[in-house]
Amino acid sequence: MRSELDVLQIDQLLPEEERLIRDSVRSFVKEKVLPIIGGCFRRGEFPKHLVPEIAQLGLLGPTVKTHGGAGTSYLGYGVIMEELERGDSGVRSFASVQSSLVIYPIATFGDEAQRDRWLPGLINGQLIGCFGLTEPDFGSNPAGMRTSAKRQGGNYVLNGTKRWITNGNLADLAVVFARCDDGEIGAFVVERGTEGFITNEIEGKISLRASVTSELIFEDCTVPAANRLPNAKGLKAALMCLSQARYGIAWGAIGAAKACFFEALDYAKARVMFDRPIAGFQLVQQKLVQMYSDIVQAELLCHRMAQLKDRDGQVHHVAVSLAKRNNVDMALKTARVARDILGANGIVDDYCAMRHMCNLESVFTYEGTHDIHTLIVGQALTGESAFGETKAG
Ligand SMILES: Cc1cc2nc3c(=O)[nH]c(=O)nc-3n(C[C@H](O)[C@H](O)[C@H](O)COP(=O)(O)OP(=O)(O)OC[C@H]3O[C@@H](n4cnc5c(N)ncnc54)[C@H](O)[C@@H]3O)c2cc1C
Repeated sequence: MRSELDVLQIDQLLPEEERLIRDSVRSFVKEKVLPIIGGCFRRGEFPKHLVPEIAQLGLLGPTVKTHGGAGTSYLGYGVIMEELERGDSGVRSFASVQSSLVIYPIATFGDEAQRDRWLPGLINGQLIGCFGLTEPDFGSNPAGMRTSAKRQGGNYVLNGTKRWITNGNLADLAVVFARCDDGEIGAFVVERGTEGFITNEIEGKISLRASVTSELIFEDCTVPAANRLPNAKGLKAALMCLSQARYGIAWGAIGAAKACFFEALDYAKARVMFDRPIAGFQLVQQKLVQMYSDIVQAELLCHRMAQLKDRDGQVHHVAVSLAKRNNVDMALKTARVARDILGANGIVDDYCAMRHMCNLESVFTYEGTHDIHTLIVGQALTGESAFGETKAG
């Protein structure tokens, strides 16, 4: 929060290195993202020209210590996500997918040759990746996936469709989950240009318009067996990737919420109605106080998660679900209230609230819907699974 409002001195929780990261990403967003992002959203364009600078700032795979990675802490990673999403959830989504869903699985489940082949380009921004888990008929229940990978000599032949894939049409390579001959789910790196691999951009989005979302089609798509990530065994590997990404999303949501809150606060102080600034009305103050209170709590939740992740290398997946669920819900509500405080001005894209609000509808749904995280936490609390049956498709 701004120092004058930082009553809990949350700023002091950032050590020197993370403070420098925060400041550099904040300046980048202020100078390079904010001036163009409204236009990108309006035109439905991802600002691809920013990728080299995002990479140069060390924001892709920032926690990786080899292959050109900056080796930052998870606190630093969280701060990066917060600052990027203060600009736009689409820009943060690009970085989340590249870092947590492409670089992370290759670094964690790949062999040395695979790491050497793909990580340097992904970290320096010369390669863009995407992550294919969701299918048209299997969203919340990826265990039912139908995409198949059949072994044929030294290759695997992939068939199936993935949908709602961030970065799909931009991607030089896709990390794709498929059911193998033995029934086990495996992960494969499919490179652009491989015969039988087609990407189609999904048109008509009203949310995350400054992000590319695609369908991936595999028609007898033949990849060398050397492209299978050897240590990605079963759906657990995909869920580990999602846990990484959800951690960043919980942080990112704070950025979107802060953008909306500060816009509404400034507006409320300047906007005069009934001969006084609307910030002087109790009802408006009640809204501002609720937003501020919710943001502070979300920040503290993330700082505790970062502490645990930096100490133990991981944080319990239920804690991640709790934080993703809480913080995205908080950000969405904050964006809606900010839009309300802006009155009619709130519906035009001169202001950021409604853009964030539309974006956050996707963030609410992806990486496990709000409901799915409720079920995860509910199961941990009660010992009862309320998911329903999981059948393979
Ligand atoms: C912009 C965007 C980008 C995305 N990027 C990616 C990506 O890069 N890679 C990728 O693999 N996927 C991606 N996704 C897909 C995303 O993860 C799925 O949309 C999400 O998992 C939900 O699946 P679904 O849309 O099929 O909804 P469904 O699973 O059909 O859910 C519909 C509704 O039913 C509810 N529901 C489902 N099951 C239950 C249950 N057991 N109990 C109670 N309620 C339930 C849900 O909460 C939701 O409200 C993206 C999605 C969007 C919108």
